[in-house]
Amino acid sequence: MNGRSASLRLGELAIDGWSRAGEETWFRVSPPGLAFDVGRGPLALAGVRDLFVTHGHLDHLLGLPYLLSRRALDHPWGRRVFCPAEIAEDVAALVKVAERLERTEYPFTLCPLSPGDRVEVGRDLAVEAFATEHVVPSLGYHLLRRRHRLRDELRELPADEVVARKRSGEAVEERVEERWLSFCGDTGPGVFERQPELFSSRVLMLECTFLDAAHRDRAARFGHLHLADLVAREERFENEAVVLYHLSRRHRPEELRREVDQWMPRLAGRVHVLLGA
Ligand SMILES: [Zn+2]
Repeated sequence: MNGRSASLRLGELAIDGWSRAGEETWFRVSPPGLAFDVGRGPLALAGVRDLFVTHGHLDHLLGLPYLLSRRALDHPWGRRVFCPAEIAEDVAALVKVAERLERTEYPFTLCPLSPGDRVEVGRDLAVEAFATEHVVPSLGYHLLRRRHRLRDELRELPADEVVARKRSGEAVEERVEERWLSFCGDTGPGVFERQPELFSSRVLMLECTFLDAAHRDRAARFGHLHLADLVAREERFENEAVVLYHLSRRHRPEELRREVDQWMPRLAGRVHVLLGA
């Protein structure tokens, strides 16, 4: 499974993964090296400490017991699994069955999350959950980065003056937080109304399941995005990069690329298609 994943580098951010509707979806995002969804349990995620699950559909979740089992062999210390609070009991039961089958216990902590909850995932990095719109309980996740920068009013000063002020104990830096990446899992277009801040995340990872007019209704019914939902909002995307995944097997990746180029010319240069072979 490893060999067929796709990779994308956006500045300091590396994204590896594989995603097709109904087959499996998983991504590894570094830094900090966490997983958004776990698919059917790719070995590429075997060493990852923090696993963020967006919802309970098996193409996003089924690999969890295997990954916990797999990692227990190499790393007997704790791992953290995050999921929507509404499904935590069922996720725990699924893992429990696997533990019983293997006559063992996996070292991990299950952490239920609700929209707005935050988790520290590394130095100056946090993940915040947000509500999405799917047919089962679901969450999306923002990766937040805290940065330190010179306070606005000091920018014009010569460097030695800033150094002198710092030495004298003045706070010359301020902390700013940015949404470095937002991962939406599976979602219908209602997510844009609920979370308009998605349009300004640096990197926006969005599912795009359907392309043709015949599947417009199907997308709405199953809580997925249709390319037309993105075309209708083209002007609103301020993101540096929009990464599309979760394309239906009915469509080839080249078709998605072509349609993006044709219908969203203003955005097309910032759109990446990340599906895996
Ligand atoms: Zn789903």
